[in-house]
Amino acid sequence: MKLTFLGTGTSMGVPVAGGFGREKNTGDYRDERYRTSAWVETDKTSIVIDTGPEFRLQTLRAGIRKIDLLLLTHEHTDHIAGLDDLRPYNYVQKKSIPTYTTEECIASIKKRFSYMFGPDKTPGSVDIDFKTASKPFIFNDCKITPLPVDHGVMNVLGFRINDLVYITDAKRIPDETKELVKGAKVMVLNGLQWAPKHKTHFTIPEAVDVANELQIPITYLVHISSYVIHKEISAKLPAHVKLAYDQLTIQI
Ligand SMILES: [Zn+2]
Ligand SMILES: [Zn+2]
Repeated sequence: MKLTFLGTGTSMGVPVAGGFGREKNTGDYRDERYRTSAWVETDKTSIVIDTGPEFRLQTLRAGIRKIDLLLLTHEHTDHIAGLDDLRPYNYVQKKSIPTYTTEECIASIKKRFSYMFGPDKTPGSVDIDFKTASKPFIFNDCKITPLPVDHGVMNVLGFRINDLVYITDAKRIPDETKELVKGAKVMVLNGLQWAPKHKTHFTIPEAVDVANELQIPITYLVHISSYVIHKEISAKLPAHVKLAYDQLTIQI
């Protein structure tokens, strides 16, 4: 199984316009971050997790030729704004894309992208087949387990895909979810910044604490802010926790 990090940035992306965060590139490609999203490939299956605002650019950059399954973590714009760019896959694959997420996320998308659904659906608009992710399911050669986590203001989903655990936008991991990740080999986890603490996201030191507690052999951090300079922060991390960066691929 192969994992490609399509994006590793926090909600504003990195660098940030308007003077709120770091506006300039550092010269290190690992410090430029599209919004957090991932692509998982097995022998039989191509899975995308989240479709953020740069989704079209991410699919072109990574060379994604087909999408069998879409997993959406939650309805915040940095995770769903690129839904429309699934259309070319619909047109080539000639079918809808099964999409698993929460009831809340489905309701929010149907409201915000109303032209894609119902009797007045715009012809040619994106074709996704929503399914509520409430229990583990098998898709081709993948066992997929929804992982409920607490985002501070809402419940969101992580996903376990075989031996990969993918959790973004978490502030707390419930005990029941900790049970579901046992025995995994790789974890992806959100780590926003070194400090200060944040209401809706783990900081990097908090993410390291989670990685230590869950004892998954290696953890890659995503959803990273513009203030994080890859080289500086990487030097402060234990060997089993790494900062991910856009276009990094790993074998699991
Ligand atoms: Zn986010
Ligand atoms: Zn969020």
